[in-house]
Amino acid sequence: MTYVIAEPCIGVKDASCVDVCPVDCIHPAPTEPDFEIMAQLYIDPDECIDCGACEPECPVFAIFAEDAVPDQWVGYTQINADYYKR
Ligand code: SF4
Ligand code: SF4
Repeated sequence: MTYVIAEPCIGVKDASCVDVCPVDCIHPAPTEPDFEIMAQLYIDPDECIDCGACEPECPVFAIFAEDAVPDQWVGYTQINADYYKR
């Protein structure tokens, strides 16, 4: 499984989640070139170890376990994965 970042991150992008991820699988981080141009952050599904550490850190409740993504945001599972296929 993986965790997924959904729509509420858009426009917030405070990167609280980046700081707590033990495997650095949330990008783009503020230090990376893409950070300014991407609307939100994304979790790499191949690297995420499902630890759940990021979920409670998000101030806008944008992070969900893949099997708990609300119906209106299920498309974000693919959107997160697609960022890493570019
Ligand atoms: S669940 Fe854990 S490994 Fe996956 S993105 Fe969140 S903090 Fe990183
Ligand atoms: S903590 Fe939430 S709002 Fe902040 S960057 Fe991570 S997913 Fe986006």
